[in-house]
Amino acid sequence: MRDADRAATLVVATRNRGKLEELRALLEGLPLEVRGLAEVLPDAPKVVEDGETFAENAVKKARAVAHETMTLSLADDSGLEVDALGGKPGVRSARFAHERATDADNNTALLAALGALGEGEGEPGGFPARFRCVLALIDPFTSGGEPRTVEGVCEGMITRAPRGTGGFGYDPLFVVAGTARTMAELTEVEKNRVSHRARAFAALRPVLEAALAERAGQVARAR
Ligand code: IMP
Repeated sequence: MRDADRAATLVVATRNRGKLEELRALLEGLPLEVRGLAEVLPDAPKVVEDGETFAENAVKKARAVAHETMTLSLADDSGLEVDALGGKPGVRSARFAHERATDADNNTALLAALGALGEGEGEPGGFPARFRCVLALIDPFTSGGEPRTVEGVCEGMITRAPRGTGGFGYDPLFVVAGTARTMAELTEVEKNRVSHRARAFAALRPVLEAALAERAGQVARAR
């Protein structure tokens, strides 16, 4: 097989099998072999997510993997932004209540923070908010190894009482814009149609196609 025909490997900086499967489905048809961190770097140290934005954290994780593997590398960072809280919990979404918080701890902390706001804050349907997901792609061999980022957003409202049992994280408190249902009341298929992550993965496809074309051009010129 010629080098140019060989599927490139895309290493994804996640140990979450759900995210990997979702990505594999969305990238179907591209000459790419999608592999998770557990497969490629089982002992990879955890990257400290201390950036001030989702993009900073995603780029930091993608750089770490690209440095170790010298392969096309992808990382994501995501979370919830609530307007009335100035965009919090934001990059601290997983640790909003405290460093070792569970989803339930974080949901309780979010309702407490919103409850502490003055009367008149929020809207009848709740507090405007959005889930945001940023993906960072690094190809060590093209574009000078510079990261390319894309993002996806899902708008909604934080309701005052949790509903639903699906999903994870803040899903039971997040009413999806244009529906009366929380993210936790959607089926997995429905969530994957509207979620911030699915939208970011969809935005990634043309960026990956461009990176693969740049690579193919390089290989052809090197002949
Ligand atoms: P991660 O970027 O996937 O690790 O997510 C960071 C944190 O953001 C999670 O621990 C959740 O608290 C929150 N989060 C991200 N995506 C979702 C989602 O789809 N539903 C609910 N919470 C989410």
